[in-house]
Amino acid sequence: MFDFEILNTDGKARHALMTVNNKQVKTPLFMPVATKGTVKTLISEDLEELGVQALISNMYHLLLKPGIEKIEDAGGLHQFMNWDGLIFTDSGGFQMIRSDFDNEVTSKGVTFNSDQDGKTYEITPEKCIQLQKRIGSDIAMCLDYCPPYPADKGELEKSVMRTKEWAKRCKKQGDNIFGISQGGTIPELREKSCKDIVDLDFEGNAIGGLSIGEPTELMYENTKISTSVFPKRKPRYFMGLGSPIDILECVKMGVDIFDSAYPTRNARHRTIFTKNGNIRIDKRKFGEQHIPLDPNCDCPTCRNYTRAYIHHLCKADELSWMRLASLHNVKFMMDLMEDCRKAISENRYDSFKEDFIDSYTVC
Ligand SMILES: [Zn+2]
Repeated sequence: MFDFEILNTDGKARHALMTVNNKQVKTPLFMPVATKGTVKTLISEDLEELGVQALISNMYHLLLKPGIEKIEDAGGLHQFMNWDGLIFTDSGGFQMIRSDFDNEVTSKGVTFNSDQDGKTYEITPEKCIQLQKRIGSDIAMCLDYCPPYPADKGELEKSVMRTKEWAKRCKKQGDNIFGISQGGTIPELREKSCKDIVDLDFEGNAIGGLSIGEPTELMYENTKISTSVFPKRKPRYFMGLGSPIDILECVKMGVDIFDSAYPTRNARHRTIFTKNGNIRIDKRKFGEQHIPLDPNCDCPTCRNYTRAYIHHLCKADELSWMRLASLHNVKFMMDLMEDCRKAISENRYDSFKEDFIDSYTVC
């Protein structure tokens, strides 16, 4: 079952309840990335404690390791990774097309050779959805064709056409599927692709092929086009966007769902999010500071550990700092989204966004 109920709007920003397979999540929603069935350095109990409502895994990675059958044998991905929350799965089209493996993309689908097991895999749009459903995904994403940035107009036209044809075939595989639009940063192609996807009447509509290296203004321009074409009554999902400021700008344009490895990848690169800007915890001065990473945060790390201690763990190459930093950064994103929802409900989204951006300066 699938339901999307808008509770409040403030301008184009929306606060909604999305119900999928009896699991309810609030939007605007940020999903940590569990590419291979785990959010790096964290366990499922951590995610629950941090207030994570949903995560996104990747069918392509799980297909190669440990294999779809093994996850089926475990009773599905929820059981396998001990996670009761919502699971989105990405098709892995993005990775398959870019992988170092020999791959061939035709109208039929993607064929690639894996150097992990020496096998040849043929992923058609139909098979892509079937595999996601076999592992118990709550929301499956269509197989799309996303050329790298920058791509020429001809390549983008081809990707819009192929993405539409593949989406038609994905749609026939059942319910709880989101379509993905392409079109790069060429407004007329972006608009065409969004219309193509909307016509197919998926449960939700996603923005693909942005946040892959293009200038921010072009990303915003094409996001605005997408949200003006996508119907209001359905969720809108910007795939792969994780920077707090970009998320706030896109919520203002009417995007509901985001995912990215950004908070956990930054944590593992020693960058800690705070409301007063990001800090590099390995800088010498933090070794002297016996205060939490962010004194306003109530994550397990900030409740129990100090900047000086985490700085020491970094310097001593003790792996636990990655976990402590990841706990904090994921909680930062959960709090940010909760603040967005509250501000929308109280009709003060614009002032909330401006205040946040004023105090948040990325170092
Ligand atoms: Zn914290």
